[in-house]
Amino acid sequence: MANQDYHFDTKRIHAGYSSEDHFNAVNTPIYQTAAFDLADIDRARRLWTGAESAGLYTRVGNPTVTVLEQRITELDGGSAAIGLASGMAAISYTVLLLGEGGGNIVSASSLYGAAQESLTHFFPKFGITTRFVKNRNDATEYESLIDENTKAIYIESISNPNIEVYDFEAIAEVAHKHGIPVVVDNTIATPYLFRPFEHGADLIVYSATKGIAGHGNTIAGLVVEKGGFEYSKERFPQFHTKSYKMRDLQGNPRTPLEFAPDSPFVASLRIFYLEFIGATLGAFDAFLVLQGLSTLSERLEKQVATTKKLVEYLENKKEVEWVRHPFAKDSAYKELADKYFPNGAGAVFSFGFGGTRDQFKKFITSLEVLSYHVNIGDVRTLIANPPETTHTELEPHIQELADIPSNLVRISVGLENADDLIADFEQAFEKAFS
Ligand SMILES: *Cc1c(COP(=O)(O)O)cnc(C)c1O
Repeated sequence: MANQDYHFDTKRIHAGYSSEDHFNAVNTPIYQTAAFDLADIDRARRLWTGAESAGLYTRVGNPTVTVLEQRITELDGGSAAIGLASGMAAISYTVLLLGEGGGNIVSASSLYGAAQESLTHFFPKFGITTRFVKNRNDATEYESLIDENTKAIYIESISNPNIEVYDFEAIAEVAHKHGIPVVVDNTIATPYLFRPFEHGADLIVYSATKGIAGHGNTIAGLVVEKGGFEYSKERFPQFHTKSYKMRDLQGNPRTPLEFAPDSPFVASLRIFYLEFIGATLGAFDAFLVLQGLSTLSERLEKQVATTKKLVEYLENKKEVEWVRHPFAKDSAYKELADKYFPNGAGAVFSFGFGGTRDQFKKFITSLEVLSYHVNIGDVRTLIANPPETTHTELEPHIQELADIPSNLVRISVGLENADDLIADFEQAFEKAFS
């Protein structure tokens, strides 16, 4: 499908796929093969120098995965994308590539638990440290933490579990003034609810495990590159360093910027990171993500509508201390949400349980429709207690900085009937407080 002007709903079904390239199969086939025939010596040479792109070896590329990469590239309006084995692989590869040789990242607390933990304790082992701002929407605070070794500003489009919204354009302006790219984890919003590249992001990372695949049945990650970011030689020598792995047909080494002028980032991830570390997305998992993407808009529409009803219901319960979502009456993020999320700021929210620990235990085990497990973006409505599960590895002072009170309960809204969900809450509150 060549026409770039189709609407989102058309692209999420057709982009990146032509049936005539796949034995006229209407649905994207699962290419369950480790390797591909090279045909002849000259073609092998073209494949190895990137002069021709086609299946070679599935660790670095597979036609089913390629369809997903092209589809997400078009949905986000980028120059290239790469499928990876998980959202954490997408985040880790992005941090490691930006921080090659050492440096620092500027970010805000209350990131996804494993992202926060890895930036705080794991990447410093590789010479990459992270400086966290206190006020996520104070662009001058980000600026005050930037120095000559800063490699990126890293933020999430909607934070979890507090559902805070960033002022993306103000933050991007500061980053770009200093020649630094902005990385946005757009997992919770998905490309349907938020368009990071239209608001200053240069790179998007996704856990496609969540809303994009949408059915709680696979683990997958994606990195999308906008293209056109000017990586300076001083700050980002990795994109200006010649490599034999990026040689041309005559065997001359090239830099990532020479090899792929519009997508040096994704090209480097594929040619160095997938080749050497190999967190490869399997063909079957890519197929499941494609399947999920094809109904993304309808799922998110309904999930956002149900979120609104649940937020209203819980706000009026005396057993609930507070509700955090831009739909909540007292949300501090209403204005930013209206500006950046015209279709709603997602289907994850949290509330403060206003009872004892024993009442909370009773409440959780009394729920019949909601299920208690730590995922988000599923067809099922999920309930979790982040302070004791997803965010338990954060030290108490970071939990405090991330504003995760001990009575916080997180909900990820699925596709069940909203009235059934409310009735389920109602009977569980009754049992817990009787
Ligand atoms: C789940 C999640 C991740 C990690 O993704 P995996 O696919 O589980 O590795 C990263 N960021 C956010 C916001 C997430 O919700």
